[in-house]
Amino acid sequence: MSTLIWTLIELGLLGALAYHRVSLRPAAVIAGMMMALLTVLLLPGWSLLVGWLIVAALVLLCSMSLRRTYISDRLLPLLRRAMPPMSQTEREALEAGTVWWDAELFSGRPDWRRLLGTPAPRLSAEEQSFLDGPAEALCRMLDDWRITQEDFDLPPEVWTYIKQQGFFGMIIPKRYGGLGFSALAHSAVVMKIATRSITAAVTVMVPNSLGPAELLLHYGTEQQKERYLRRLAKGEEVPCFALTGPEAGSDASSIPDTGIICRGKFNGEETLGIRLNWEKRYITLGPVATVLGLAFKLYDPNGLLGKRRELGITCALIPTDTPGIEIGARHFPLNAAFQNGPNRGRDVFIPLDWVIGGAERVGQGWRMLMESLAAGRSISLPALSTGAGKLVCRAIGGYARVRKQFKTPIGHFEGVEEVLARMAGYTYMMDAARIMTAGAVDNGEKPSVISAIVKQQLTERMRRIVNDAMDVQGGAAICLGPRNLIGRAYQSIPISITVEGANLLTRSLIIFGQGAVRCHPYILKEMRAAAEQNPYTASRDFDAALFGHIGFTVSNAVRALWLGLTGARLVRVPVHGQPRRYYQKITRMSAAFALTADVTMLVLGGDLKRRERLSGRFADALSNLYLASAVVKRFEDQGRPDADRPLLQWAFDDALYTVQESLDALLKNFPVRWLSWIVRGLVFPLGRRYAPPDDHVGQQAARLLLRPSVARDRLTAGMFIPKGEREPLGRIELALADIERVDAVERALSNSVKNGVLPKASIAELIDLALERGVISDENAELLRRAEALRREIIKVDDFPKEVLARRPDDALEDEVA
Ligand SMILES: Cc1cc2nc3c(=O)[nH]c(=O)nc-3n(C[C@H](O)[C@H](O)[C@H](O)COP(=O)(O)OP(=O)(O)OC[C@H]3O[C@@H](n4cnc5c(N)ncnc54)[C@H](O)[C@@H]3O)c2cc1C
Repeated sequence: MSTLIWTLIELGLLGALAYHRVSLRPAAVIAGMMMALLTVLLLPGWSLLVGWLIVAALVLLCSMSLRRTYISDRLLPLLRRAMPPMSQTEREALEAGTVWWDAELFSGRPDWRRLLGTPAPRLSAEEQSFLDGPAEALCRMLDDWRITQEDFDLPPEVWTYIKQQGFFGMIIPKRYGGLGFSALAHSAVVMKIATRSITAAVTVMVPNSLGPAELLLHYGTEQQKERYLRRLAKGEEVPCFALTGPEAGSDASSIPDTGIICRGKFNGEETLGIRLNWEKRYITLGPVATVLGLAFKLYDPNGLLGKRRELGITCALIPTDTPGIEIGARHFPLNAAFQNGPNRGRDVFIPLDWVIGGAERVGQGWRMLMESLAAGRSISLPALSTGAGKLVCRAIGGYARVRKQFKTPIGHFEGVEEVLARMAGYTYMMDAARIMTAGAVDNGEKPSVISAIVKQQLTERMRRIVNDAMDVQGGAAICLGPRNLIGRAYQSIPISITVEGANLLTRSLIIFGQGAVRCHPYILKEMRAAAEQNPYTASRDFDAALFGHIGFTVSNAVRALWLGLTGARLVRVPVHGQPRRYYQKITRMSAAFALTADVTMLVLGGDLKRRERLSGRFADALSNLYLASAVVKRFEDQGRPDADRPLLQWAFDDALYTVQESLDALLKNFPVRWLSWIVRGLVFPLGRRYAPPDDHVGQQAARLLLRPSVARDRLTAGMFIPKGEREPLGRIELALADIERVDAVERALSNSVKNGVLPKASIAELIDLALERGVISDENAELLRRAEALRREIIKVDDFPKEVLARRPDDALEDEVA
């Protein structure tokens, strides 16, 4: 018995060293001292032997030359053979951008001080006044039904307003005439417009996202910046960026479009330039663009620039009136009316200095695009998705309160409540992630993995809750027309899912694939060592990375087990009160994630790239750890508002449960059964303890959408809220403003009917009778009449004369194109 206890004490002390990630040398010294003490304390024989053997092993491992001779130098060739071949573009994509909180989550020991020490992102006074001024005015100008059903375009006055007010130049610094906005402000503007019109939001979003401006700002020559940025900022140039073509969609680096370095005539002079041929499609703003950002593969068959014949993907900026360019036709993406279409170029000759960044940037296009994507993707679609979330919370939540069936507001039925809770919880989560990510970009990050996470996760959540909103509104959401608030958003969902990295690919290949390499503290170092040509450097670097990696994995195994056994209650986090449990739980699941990821990579190596089902589950786990971190940060940044607790709880529980279930599903499908049981024992020593959000929390979250409150305002802050009875959302707002008073008067009426004071009658008759018999006052009668009129208007749907619908939208589009 005593042998067992002493062995457990030894293991406990060694575990503590691993838990705290004490490095090898100090660990050997501490373990040696500990064993000396235990020997003096007359440790029984077997435990003494085991303990000293461990100390001896630690001491031997401290010798780098021994390690290299017997371990790392033998493993290095194996790694080289196992490493999947990686193309230049894959390497550039992997290395693009920066890592931030994603790396902390990957570490198994997130440093909460780093996250909480980041100040809460805030808009400047100037940015706020732009949102309250021009952005608000733009929203008021937008009639989305007219845009999407009648004009198939923004009205000319809207185009002019967008250009004149600088909406196309939000990311362009003031010195070039742009608005010089922060990423947060850019996101807030796109979000606000998206709550009014997806067509307008996409139109504004594209030039500020992965467009020529972003590329010019970071890579353009001073001459190019001077020439284009001012004109782009003022809307005197309309940009688009063309990467995708019929043969290269998701696999964008395989574009068949070519540029050949050659001499040609330009403005009557013999010039060194590029002859281009391309075929692109789906290009947003393409049909109206005056300047085209183009990605193509550049070749130098005659060696005019040097010895290399294949120069790689290159980006150029080309005026669309350059001879040889064919542009102008339009696609029709799911009834959204933003400009989008194909374009082609046949033997288009451009001077070399039209390459973005000039000759110096030839062949660097892919890295440039990936870096820009890391910033742009963090902002645009997350903002658009959050806007959709805010709209459904405010509008459909309100509708669910006003619309009654079975004499009860539909929002009070449990089945509807469940769905409303998801709408509220997801919107809280989406907004938290949107703001935290924009803040990171403003702090100089180009977060490639996080941008993929927020793009995929927020668009998926938008898909889910817009679908939910359709269910809640029923027929009123299905019948399109000016009264319909969400039909067009519903139609547009697949656009957001597909663009800027289609979600299936982003989830199953990019998030974990790139995350594992970029965020893991040792994988990239091991890969670099394996690719190193100098044998001494390769051996030294690989040894350091390998033993760091082993220590990291052992530490995460110990941490996962300990945190699982204790529920992470003993973890120190820099917050007080009940919210500290949230931080502790994320810390625990971060260790579980890191351990599972390491073991899986060890077993599958490069094959993991093809195991997309596993990789997708890792992506879900990592993404939800990020979302959970975002919601706790938001709660803290907003000063822990009590009224938001149901939203925080719902969003947190949902995210944490998803992390747990993703890891569980992964272990169930793990390729090596016995190993999966060991990992499961470490990760879930007491089983799966986290549950999805409970019904009580769900009910509280749902109810926040059913009446005016500070929490509802905070949840939907930044959206466009039209005023007045002429607007569908304006009507809902008016109805909700009086809902408590109306309820009280209606209750009085219904009690009077129950008591026989009033007969059963229609509401209009009842109001008259109640007034006559003194059951209600004049004021209350007026209140009810007004509420009833509003309710009728709110539930009404559009209908059209037959001949209007007989004119098919595509006929109209054909007319317009013709
Ligand atoms: C409205 C709209 C606007 C756009 N705007 C622009 C623009 O301005 N500029 C521009 O250059 N491009 C633009 N695009 C192109 C967009 O980026 C592509 O549509 C996208 O990259 C997907 O390519 P694809 O549609 O050809 O789908 P495909 O590549 O054919 O993919 C089809 C499906 O297969 C999945 N898939 C593919 N490979 C894998 C894999 N390895 N693992 C798992 N799943 C995989 C994808 O996720 C997708 O779901 C736009 C597209 C649309 C529809």
